Amino acid sequence: MADLKRGKLYVVTGPSGVGKGTILEKFFNNNKNIYFSVSMTTRCPRPNEKEGVNYFFVSNEEFDRAVKNDELLEWTEYSGNFYGTSKKFVENALLKGVDVLLEIETQGAKKVMEKFPDCITIFFAPPSFEELESRLRGRHTEDENAIQKRLSAVRDELSMAEKFKYNIVNDEVESAYTKLQAVYDFESGGK
Ligand code: ADP
Ligand code: 5GP
Repeated sequence: MADLKRGKLYVVTGPSGVGKGTILEKFFNNNKNIYFSVSMTTRCPRPNEKEGVNYFFVSNEEFDRAVKNDELLEWTEYSGNFYGTSKKFVENALLKGVDVLLEIETQGAKKVMEKFPDCITIFFAPPSFEELESRLRGRHTEDENAIQKRLSAVRDELSMAEKFKYNIVNDEVESAYTKLQAVYDFESGGK
């Protein structure tokens, strides 16, 4: 039997509120041969979020246990909550030859690039800081304190944009999605 080809790892990053979730929802509706890596988080679920679909929502103790047991490929504290990627899920899928996509913040993305130098990184940028703030506020999912924390991270996040292979400005959902699809079609060789 021929050796099974390893799957490819895609990492999508960019500041909170830029539209990663919105664009990825379209992407996953149209692409069934790539898995979304569901992260673990200590943040509370938003009204529209589902356990095991958007995140695995866990307590601080459960998160600590996962860190101690070396279950996470990478993890970080972001805006007062913990977030981490399941090592087992990602490694099993890649071994089976299945592509995997992570949607994580920029520090985590950097750590993944160190561990997986061949990963394909995509940074979503907002058209402007003002538009990003207006999207974050318009989502109505965070209180003022959480919005301020997220906005305070934006400058650092934007300064890292050039470290990632592809930069896509999310000015308009349809055109940003089309660009992401073009990246995937190119990198996956149309498979
Ligand atoms: P992220 O996942 O990066 O935090 P979201 O996908 O939740 O961002 O988007 C934040 C808000 O901005 C949502 O209310 C979403 O509907 C809106 N949004 C996303 N993309 C655009 C766009 N291109 N133009 C206007 N609003 C957008
Ligand atoms: P949110 O609370 O808006 O869902 O996510 C906040 C930030 O955490 C987003 O930038 C999101 O991409 C990122 N994030 C989600 N899961 C992970 C993860 O497993 N690891 C890291 N490093 N960041 C994550």
